Amino acid sequence: MDQLKITLSSNKKAKPAADQLGFGKYFTDHMLLMDYSEEKGWHDPRIVPYGPLMLDPSAMVFHYGQEVFEGMKAYRTPEGNVVLFRPEMNFRRMNTSCIRMGMPEVDAGPVLEAIRKLIELDEAWVPEGEGNSLYIRPFMIATEAGLGVRAAREYQFIVILTPVGAYYSEGIHPVRIHVEDQYVRAVRGGTGEAKTSGNYASGLKAQEDAKQFGFSQVLWLDGVEKKYIEEVGSMNVFFKVNGKVITPELSGSILAGITRDSVLHLLREWGIPVEERRISVGELFEASQRGELEEAFGTGTAAVISPIGWMRWEDREIEISGGKTGALSEKLYNELTGIQRGVLPDPYGWRH
Ligand code: PMP
Repeated sequence: MDQLKITLSSNKKAKPAADQLGFGKYFTDHMLLMDYSEEKGWHDPRIVPYGPLMLDPSAMVFHYGQEVFEGMKAYRTPEGNVVLFRPEMNFRRMNTSCIRMGMPEVDAGPVLEAIRKLIELDEAWVPEGEGNSLYIRPFMIATEAGLGVRAAREYQFIVILTPVGAYYSEGIHPVRIHVEDQYVRAVRGGTGEAKTSGNYASGLKAQEDAKQFGFSQVLWLDGVEKKYIEEVGSMNVFFKVNGKVITPELSGSILAGITRDSVLHLLREWGIPVEERRISVGELFEASQRGELEEAFGTGTAAVISPIGWMRWEDREIEISGGKTGALSEKLYNELTGIQRGVLPDPYGWRH
């Protein structure tokens, strides 16, 4: 990769107060860009002042949807250092997404180094305070101008940064979810395991409908039989049944979450039995009836652990853990956020 060029912003923005952050509302002073062409490969990496992009209206991303993205967080430790959580996993996953979408891969090493430089420049934007973080959004779009359905030959890779507030401002608490039996998110062989915008666009209608009925997320079922559990909203999902933890296997239609991988790692480390396999929604409702469905929770970068207190499927609704955060969910949350924020030891080498 060429040498990174830096153009500093001469017009630094005012920073929002820590209690005003929310999610994805404010962006830092700089962004990272680089371009791809078939002749030159990835070239011209540069940090420039944050601002609008100039794209041809026929840029292929607008018409055929070649886009992939990632999401990760930088945390400020009690000592004031800035740390990332397993960032190499995000770039491994981004490259998997690129391959599926017919897009060029990036070289994780130099890209991470450029992101490190970007965060260093905008370091004052990494918020202090428990639960606050700097969310990092790397993404790639097909920029080639022209219509015609084929993989583009030109792309841009961009990284933007946004300071975000604590997901749980009033402490970790359970949510109510709707098992979606009309719409599906992905099918095996489709793009479900790629982090690409179309997967999210196709889920919005179900999510909006569920919100209207007082559910915070939908639980997606498989696209063929509408019988097996896939994901919850934009999180992976785990269940504790009779002392054992189960989660859907990576079948090709669900995203390989980095929090999911970390949770599996911790559970195995703690000697708790875990299984990655097909799980039918009927099996869970039966376990609930027998009093064996002990906990349920989603996992993802945004919430880390999101306990599920109530689950509705067709005309039945069950309560899980008495509508409270289960002990295992709480323990996983404390352990993971402690490692991420640098307040607990990191025996697995996850902090960078
Ligand atoms: N599934 C989907 C569809 C997602 O968008 C996300 C968020 N990236 C996840 C699962 C959780 O992945 P991670 O733990 O890497 O954030």
